[in-house]
Amino acid sequence: MMLRHRLARPWLWALRSARAVVAGKDANAFRILIFHHIPHDARDAFAALVAELRRNHGVLAPEDAEARLAGRPTHSPGGAPEGRGDRLPCLLSFDDGFASNFDVANEVLATHDIRALFFVCPGLVDLEADEQREGIARGIFQGRLEADELGADLRLMSWSEIAELKAQGHTIGAHGLVHRKLTRLAGEELAGEVVEAGDILEERLGAPVAWFAYAFGTVASVSRPAFELIAERYRYCRSGVRGQNTPTTNPHALLADAIDLGAPADYHALIIEGGLDLAYVRARTRLAQMAAP
Ligand SMILES: [Zn+2]
Repeated sequence: MMLRHRLARPWLWALRSARAVVAGKDANAFRILIFHHIPHDARDAFAALVAELRRNHGVLAPEDAEARLAGRPTHSPGGAPEGRGDRLPCLLSFDDGFASNFDVANEVLATHDIRALFFVCPGLVDLEADEQREGIARGIFQGRLEADELGADLRLMSWSEIAELKAQGHTIGAHGLVHRKLTRLAGEELAGEVVEAGDILEERLGAPVAWFAYAFGTVASVSRPAFELIAERYRYCRSGVRGQNTPTTNPHALLADAIDLGAPADYHALIIEGGLDLAYVRARTRLAQMAAP
């Protein structure tokens, strides 16, 4: 087991005891979790994590998160029983639009009546199967995997699956046109990746698209010019920089925690309770500066 995974339990205890003596938190604070492709062997871990969130944190729908950002208290998110009020509710988000996300929405989220955010790349959805696998390898995995190394079940959701999620009450957001790193783009190419992605999605779904999540999520994967376009086109932008969100968080620089379902449950708890937040102070500052109006 990796050292940071072995240390998760003692670290989590220390974090919980420290939090017990630090009073006060924003009543509207929440966290956003990020999931990617969820292979079959990770589905039990995903289901267990969702059940745990329901029990001890509460799960927000995208509309609840939007209301909290506007400083409006939301109705009870469910879960979070007495004495666990210090654990923040979470909004679930899924990146890249993998078909496995459609499966877990129906197998796990529906069971708990949870609505989530799904970020898709319309330019990749449109590709034929072979081209799409090339696009996934090149765009999402950045050449770390070749198309023929991708698992047999690895495909993206079709337009009808995306529309079905929307019809089930989930929120669909844009994740770039074809998952390009925004810092490598300028001018029309940048506008295509940011603005056109949302416009195509909006036309396909016949409903406004207010959410964006830029590819790769790090503070080094986004730029000031990108944020200018994002802020003009979308109401919300979710990064992949760790931290909690409150009504004072810029809605175009929302913080979120990527979850590796292969890590132990204690490590998930550590992340979700903010145990890694201190390591991201500089990234959060930089992100907030770049996104500042
Ligand atoms: Zn992505």
